[in-house]
Amino acid sequence: MQSYERVDSQEDMDLLLASIRGFHDSMTKEIHLINRGYVRADKSMMMSHRFDTQILIQSQWKPFALELLFVGVRELCANDPGEYWGASGSVEIKSAPVEIRSICMKFDSALRVVSESLYYKVRTECLGAQAFLKSQVPTPDAVPSSLLEDKWRQCSACCDAWECEPTEIFSYCPSCGQLTELRPVDERFNLSPKPGPPVKSYTKR
Ligand SMILES: [Zn+2]
Repeated sequence: MQSYERVDSQEDMDLLLASIRGFHDSMTKEIHLINRGYVRADKSMMMSHRFDTQILIQSQWKPFALELLFVGVRELCANDPGEYWGASGSVEIKSAPVEIRSICMKFDSALRVVSESLYYKVRTECLGAQAFLKSQVPTPDAVPSSLLEDKWRQCSACCDAWECEPTEIFSYCPSCGQLTELRPVDERFNLSPKPGPPVKSYTKR
């Protein structure tokens, strides 16, 4: 999730709202909702059920397009595709008995989302009529993968490799089924040797 900002507090939420004029003159262009649970090809069910959703907002104000990523969606209600006058957002943290975060965003009375966490990313390039949310829905649970050569990338969880377009940052590993996030070469798997003690140089006298 390297390229996403995370909303952890009400201050973060207020920054998000201010970054695009409170979502005034904006609209929801696309919603991509995914369940992290699934039925395998052998008909067994993977019980990792959780709704995550990517929402692409287009605006007439800078930066013109934002992607919102709600993780652990508890509520999603969309009933009006029209333009928004504005949005509001709240971040509530209940600390007892375990910490539970509840993030709520409302766009007029047209769209309401409640989730456990929220990330966002500027997507200025996403103006126009076509569909933009074509790739896997990102998740903070993704394991790193690294580019080997051409279109080949390697999973850090099982070390298997597969072919995938380098422009797709998130891709499922066909061997272990983990969603992976492509990392820069110098960060791959943290296998680089740890820096040793500083090298001392001596000058013979
Ligand atoms: Zn794997």
